[in-house]
Amino acid sequence: GMVSAMTTIPVIGVPVKSRALNGLDSLLSIVQMPGGGQLGMMLAEALKKYDAYVIALDPNPLCSCKYVCDEIIVSEYNDLANLKKLADRVDVITYEFENVNAEALIYLNDNYNMPQGIRPLFDSQNRIREKENAIKNGLRPVEFYKILNEDDLLKGISKIGYPCVYKTTTLGYDGHGQVVLRSDKDLPLVSKYLGGEGILEKYLKYDYEASVILVRDNKEIVAFPPSYNIHKEGILDLSVAGFLDDSISEKLINKSKEFMNLCNYYGILAIEYFVKDGEIYFNEMAPRPHNSGHYTIEGCNISQYEELARFLLKRPLIEPKLISKTVMKNVLGEDLENKCPFGFWHDYYKKESRPKRKMGHITFTNTSLDDYNQKYKKYFI
Ligand code: ADP
Ligand code: MG
Repeated sequence: GMVSAMTTIPVIGVPVKSRALNGLDSLLSIVQMPGGGQLGMMLAEALKKYDAYVIALDPNPLCSCKYVCDEIIVSEYNDLANLKKLADRVDVITYEFENVNAEALIYLNDNYNMPQGIRPLFDSQNRIREKENAIKNGLRPVEFYKILNEDDLLKGISKIGYPCVYKTTTLGYDGHGQVVLRSDKDLPLVSKYLGGEGILEKYLKYDYEASVILVRDNKEIVAFPPSYNIHKEGILDLSVAGFLDDSISEKLINKSKEFMNLCNYYGILAIEYFVKDGEIYFNEMAPRPHNSGHYTIEGCNISQYEELARFLLKRPLIEPKLISKTVMKNVLGEDLENKCPFGFWHDYYKKESRPKRKMGHITFTNTSLDDYNQKYKKYFI
């Protein structure tokens, strides 16, 4: 559940005065962290369907949200005075960031209406806390040990063996802050992180990665069809919906619902898993819309963003259903010049393209993984 300060959104609010569609105040504002912002942008798109008035707060005046939101407040995201200025105008506040200043969050949660609270965010901010919480609530991560120094590292390796992976406990995202260790030769790669807190975990030769996105209100928990996720160098490349066996999908959904229930979380939660020999292993979680759920915009009867919008606006949730097999391709800086004329293109309107930076995505409906590989893969490097 780690996202860097470079990514996405923090806090969202619904202003007091609105056009009151169906008697509901539906003005919403988003407080956004530096850079990124595509998750907030797509949430704002969904909120607009309900006539919401959306405000984003971001230090970058040209963030993704600028092209969808009604207002952008240009400010550092943890500037209490500006957050208060925004929060005073809204009815509901939510967040989408994971590395936000705790003081600011607690202040907002104590003084304003933030329906997700701070608990799921707190639990996801540190990999050790996150995994211990998962164990306590019925999920199983792969074997891991806390690593502070070289001694811990060597002991960990003697228990787990190679291959294993070192991860910083905080601020990791898209594979940053991770080192895969295949032999003693790789040990020096970890030295720059030692001194800080990290974990060592078994590098699992999983059959596949999968994720589940859930939304919970006071009445029920709904789950989106789990996707099969293919990563390239630690970054999501493809999400494939309608691929997993029913028995694995059901297991993923049931365990995830049970977990969310036991944790007493509300709002949106994404959980990443490894699947091996029919067993599921918890990897990490995020209390926000998730990259692997972009496919739901065209692939399902309701998107993860619209479901979250409905939660925030106190509308009944809708049971998500897959409309057709769907493949979502992440478009990174290096893929941007592709000439693929097919699929649904979502531009994040980022001013600067860099290799490995998420610039947009393309969704192919009525498409299996085999179809994708035969027809569309050739357009991307
Ligand atoms: P983040 O998404 O925050 O960068 P993750 O822990 O999800 O961090 O790691 C990113 C990707 O690296 C995973 O989706 C997976 O492809 C790979 N990975 C991470 N940990 C393991 C592991 N223990 N075994 C196998 N692959 C792993
Ligand atoms: Mg991850």
